[in-house]
Amino acid sequence: MRRVIPATCVLALLAVLTSTPSAQPPAFDLLIKNGRIIDGTGSPWYRGDLAVRGDAIARIAPRIDAPAARVIDAGGKVVAPGFIDIHTHARRGIFQVPTADNYVRQGVTTLIEGPDGSSPLPIKPFLERVAATRITPNFALFVGQGSIRIEVIGSVNRKATDAEVDKMRGMVRQGMLDGAFGLSSGLFYVPGTFTPTAEVIELAKVAGQLGGIYISHMRDEAGGILNSVRETIEIGEKGGLPTQVTHHKIIGTANWGRSVETLKLIDEARARGVDATIDQYPYTASSTSIQAALMPAYALEGGRDEILKRLQQQGLRNELRKETSRLIAEERGGGNPNNVQLARCDWDHTLDGKRLGDVTRTRGVEPTVENAADTVFWIVEKGGCSGIFHAIDEQDLQRILRHPATMIGSDGEVPIFGEANPHPRSYGTFVRVLGRYVRDLKTITLEDAVHKMSAFPAQRIGLADRGVLREGLKADIAIFDPVTVADRATFEQPHQYPVGVSHVIVNGQVAFEDGKMTAARPGRVLYGPAAKAAGSD
Ligand SMILES: [Zn+2]
Repeated sequence: MRRVIPATCVLALLAVLTSTPSAQPPAFDLLIKNGRIIDGTGSPWYRGDLAVRGDAIARIAPRIDAPAARVIDAGGKVVAPGFIDIHTHARRGIFQVPTADNYVRQGVTTLIEGPDGSSPLPIKPFLERVAATRITPNFALFVGQGSIRIEVIGSVNRKATDAEVDKMRGMVRQGMLDGAFGLSSGLFYVPGTFTPTAEVIELAKVAGQLGGIYISHMRDEAGGILNSVRETIEIGEKGGLPTQVTHHKIIGTANWGRSVETLKLIDEARARGVDATIDQYPYTASSTSIQAALMPAYALEGGRDEILKRLQQQGLRNELRKETSRLIAEERGGGNPNNVQLARCDWDHTLDGKRLGDVTRTRGVEPTVENAADTVFWIVEKGGCSGIFHAIDEQDLQRILRHPATMIGSDGEVPIFGEANPHPRSYGTFVRVLGRYVRDLKTITLEDAVHKMSAFPAQRIGLADRGVLREGLKADIAIFDPVTVADRATFEQPHQYPVGVSHVIVNGQVAFEDGKMTAARPGRVLYGPAAKAAGSD
């Protein structure tokens, strides 16, 4: 028997058949609904939906009902621009961990490298290598004054000749044309410390003419902090470009409280029209190599062999012991050898995480400041370690954070998960601001915090198409729960991812969700103003 199909079924079937081929593809690739939108500008949050098409934000409205290929319900959560980290050492690790999980899991979508005067050179092949690596976050960089000076002069303490200054100018220019966003310096380090201010100004002028900024790890963050802030301002003023005190902090108990004066210097400079700003990480400990932190610059001239030779001269060694003891007592040692923590010792990883006083005791002597200085020399002779230095005051940290000219930067790197005992800032900077300093301590508002992590750094380096949630801009987005967002990484257990960030979107693609990194690698190399003008982006 043939079955008769009822007419109504035929009509329904026809409707399906005719509507399917002509069905519109979804209007949007991604729709984020019901979020508290914090747009990055500092404006108060508002409830809304945000739609993404391709790599850009297509629409933001109180309610969007058009179909989307994918919908994320952000009810109860904050939808913010992806965070832009203006100070990273991400080349340490980005090629081993191209997903940069430690950053992306915090909501960071753009990493800026080349700080502290240290950048890869030349820049062009390095950026090409990054682009070929297929990384998850976006990547940009500064060109480093120290790296340039080492290449032209070496790590020696002398003035540059006119010809050398010309050569260095040319290298800054090339760096900018290759894609840098400005010039960085590390005047605390060798060889930056051997560089007269006037020489830095000459290089800064070149970066400024090509649209770049100047950003500096200052000459002295301890007793000489005020003159160092003055110098940073002067370089911006005479170099004719925006200038930034990077990872601003006050080192050493005797200097605590002086952020009142440093911020006043910044305010006065801004009042007379100098475009001076600040960035900061939210921890009361810094991190760098043990020798850079605890030995005077004159002992470090000329590289490792020269340093070892100096330590073998008894008279000089005694003199250096005095100076290293002073640095432990008054500066980065925080007044106590146990305020110095070893982060990574490649010649003996059992030392990673240990305290300098405790290591001194295991060498059979009392952990006095002088004995700890001997331990420092022993470490340097063995091959050196990186260290963590607990020598910053919480009140200075909060005062700097509250300043309107302060943005957030981690000064971190891309750690290999579980390896060594790095500073927790690599895992926690941005979420620590959102959890500890916004929610728990109420040091700043949530809108201010997001601004300091997104629109402010974007505007600082001239990234006009990122850092704000606005139609037409790139879809770099972080979604987090303001009630639970928090860092988990500690100085004792740094390898811990944060909690409370639910989704991270880079260039329109979901890179992190449900506690896991996705297979997407949407990061791009971002090129600075001079390269853009020359048409390479
Ligand atoms: Zn630095």
